[in-house]
Amino acid sequence: MDRVGQIPDRQLSDEQRMMRETCRRYVDAVVRPFIADNREREWTLTDPAHRLPPGILEEADKAGIRVLGVPEEYGGVRLDPATEAQTFAVIATEISRGDTGLADKLVQNWKIAVLLRALAPAHLQAQLFGAYMSDPQYLMAHCLTEPRGASDRWLPYNVPEAAMQTRAVHEDGYWRIDGRKQFISNGYDASLYIVYANTNPSVGMLEGTSSFVVPRDTPGLEVTRCNETIGGRYMNNGEIVFDDCRVPDDHLLARDDALRSAGVYFRPGKIIVAAKNLGVGIAAFEDTAAFVQERVQGGKVLIKHQAVALRLAAMATKLEAVSALLQRAAVAVDHGDPDAGALCDMVKVFASQEILSVCQHAVELHGGYGAMLEVGIEKYLRDASVFLHSDATSDVASFKIVKELFPATAGVYAGSE
Ligand SMILES: Cc1cc2nc3c(=O)[nH]c(=O)nc-3n(C[C@H](O)[C@H](O)[C@H](O)COP(=O)(O)OP(=O)(O)OC[C@H]3O[C@@H](n4cnc5c(N)ncnc54)[C@H](O)[C@@H]3O)c2cc1C
Repeated sequence: MDRVGQIPDRQLSDEQRMMRETCRRYVDAVVRPFIADNREREWTLTDPAHRLPPGILEEADKAGIRVLGVPEEYGGVRLDPATEAQTFAVIATEISRGDTGLADKLVQNWKIAVLLRALAPAHLQAQLFGAYMSDPQYLMAHCLTEPRGASDRWLPYNVPEAAMQTRAVHEDGYWRIDGRKQFISNGYDASLYIVYANTNPSVGMLEGTSSFVVPRDTPGLEVTRCNETIGGRYMNNGEIVFDDCRVPDDHLLARDDALRSAGVYFRPGKIIVAAKNLGVGIAAFEDTAAFVQERVQGGKVLIKHQAVALRLAAMATKLEAVSALLQRAAVAVDHGDPDAGALCDMVKVFASQEILSVCQHAVELHGGYGAMLEVGIEKYLRDASVFLHSDATSDVASFKIVKELFPATAGVYAGSE
């Protein structure tokens, strides 16, 4: 077996092999050494803006990893569209093996680059991609979730009472946005926000939600907090308030059907979430495999104790199972198969449960070291726990699987309170 949980090199395309190699070099030379040398930094540095030194994103930029999804005419790297979801899975797994918060930062950029490429008018693309390419610290954020809740949107319940509360109203030559978004990845330090708002309160959210490009320096946009999270702490999750925030007409990305238009990345997004999750599990497994082959108890290295071997076998099997389902779902997305939606939710849910269990085994096999901040195994468990709620909770994603499998009966809106 090559590396546990990873598709063997021989099964990858040239592009995928090259991207994996590039990401692996970056992660092993830049990211993992930084994480290992700075175990306490994610907790002790009080200003979240400075937790990740600028050099980390600069090196990602030099390696060409930051600009994935940006059209080549603007200097970006466009992946083969026929296998894009599969390639993003390979890349996200590798980056997350280094740090999942860093992967979150980059993933938001990739996904929004893909969205802008598909929906933004040419002049806006030139302007936004130009700004993005010139600044390695430039981050983008995707603002859907509101204090009232996100699950209705994930399902989605397509009725007026479940619609978003952030409103956008068209006035003379501009759109006025009012509302509040929370739990937003990169929300604290993004330079550009993609904002979803209700533009027709009399219909369901699939027909009445529009999306807008809102640069950070737009008057009326205020970043109100950085959320302190259990894991993925090198991504600064934030809250943003829009108060009489005005953007010109051409900043409208999709009118009324923004949730359908965002489909260009909702499915690849779930593939990427599961891939990031897998990367955490692979890192936990690799560190644990090294530890149990070195540490001696009862007169022999731990791996020779059968109870230890059983746990290690369970970890490896779970990683291979997640990897296989991930591959199946990514191929379905790339092929536009009808079962792609259900498979994406299946792998997201399955990965979140199995990788959490892999990380639990990792903590257990490290004994007391597993709980120590300076060793880094507890970080995997914390990072893995965030995936239960990323891109829909596990319960809501499971409900979506059943809706996809039994469309005529399951998940029909049950009515308002
Ligand atoms: C680290 C992190 C990063 C995030 N990044 C982003 C981002 O970049 N952009 C963005 O827009 N959002 C983001 N989110 C928000 C995320 O998508 C939501 O937190 C998630 O979808 C859950 O929504 P909620 O928090 O509103 O919980 P709720 O929807 O209020 O759910 C609360 C509980 O009720 C259950 N529940 C809700 N509805 C139903 C139902 N109909 N049937 C059964 N059970 C139900 C849920 O499963 C859950 O257990 C992020 C969240 C986290 C934690």
